[in-house]
Amino acid sequence: MANTELIEKINKLKKEKNAIILAHCYQNPEIDFVADYVGDSLGLSRLASKTDAEIIVFAGVYFMAETAKILSPNKTVLLPNKNSGCNMADMINLKQVKEFKEKHPGTPLVCYVNSTAEVKAQCDICCTSANAINVIKSLYMQGAKKVLFAPDCYLGSYAQKNLPDIEIISYPGYCPTHLRIIPDEIVKMKIMYKDAKILVHPECHQEVVKLADFVGSTTQIMQYCESTKHKTYIIATEKGVVDRLKRDFPEKEFILASSKLVCHNMKWNTLDDILNSLLHNQHEVTVEEEIRQKALSSIQKMIELK
Ligand code: SF4
Repeated sequence: MANTELIEKINKLKKEKNAIILAHCYQNPEIDFVADYVGDSLGLSRLASKTDAEIIVFAGVYFMAETAKILSPNKTVLLPNKNSGCNMADMINLKQVKEFKEKHPGTPLVCYVNSTAEVKAQCDICCTSANAINVIKSLYMQGAKKVLFAPDCYLGSYAQKNLPDIEIISYPGYCPTHLRIIPDEIVKMKIMYKDAKILVHPECHQEVVKLADFVGSTTQIMQYCESTKHKTYIIATEKGVVDRLKRDFPEKEFILASSKLVCHNMKWNTLDDILNSLLHNQHEVTVEEEIRQKALSSIQKMIELK
């Protein structure tokens, strides 16, 4: 079926079924033709909890759909392609998070939202890449001298650099996509594009972060590009962000810092999958109620901090 025909079918079907489609900005850009909202994982889940739609089709990866389900237990949450996992979230399971906590009894655990529901349920508070520093700072203000951080040790290191007064003990997880970029590539880019601004996601290696003009989450990087007047931006995060920036701001130049910055997990969902998801209610994401309640509490504590 041609894309235009598929898009029409999906848009018609989602109205008939009272569904909304949420797309993460690392998805293939054609998904935006059917998406009601495009954004980062937590922002999308929060939108999902406010909608009147009965069905949420989450074009992203599994932990994102789970977060939407945690915040919207009475809605049907669908993941169009069930292969859409996350290597970082899969690096820590229930047994591993329990062992991590047991090694450091009494130390609060901060959990990046890029984790499964059962891991979120074990933590004291969640964070995103945009607010990790503020979340850890809030624990310091409450008297904590050290915190545990999971699963991303690179986001943990970035927070540690910014918060020298508290000890951050990081779990050894990482995002393989963001680690593919090496400092030499940024150095070469700086020579080739002297006036360009270098924007880096904190999931990257600290040696790459050091070379940045701006460090921020996906949304913060996109906002920086929108609100500043530079001509050229070199972006060290997933390719989907650059695809959307090029489309939305054609008067500016956006360069992906490395062609290796592609998350293959994020590219599974296709328009065909979304159509099938709506037609057959597949693949429904569920979270066991006790786990959901605990994970919700960790997410809510983070939201209340804002
Ligand atoms: S970019 Fe990294 S953290 Fe995000 S979904 Fe892909 S593997 Fe997971």
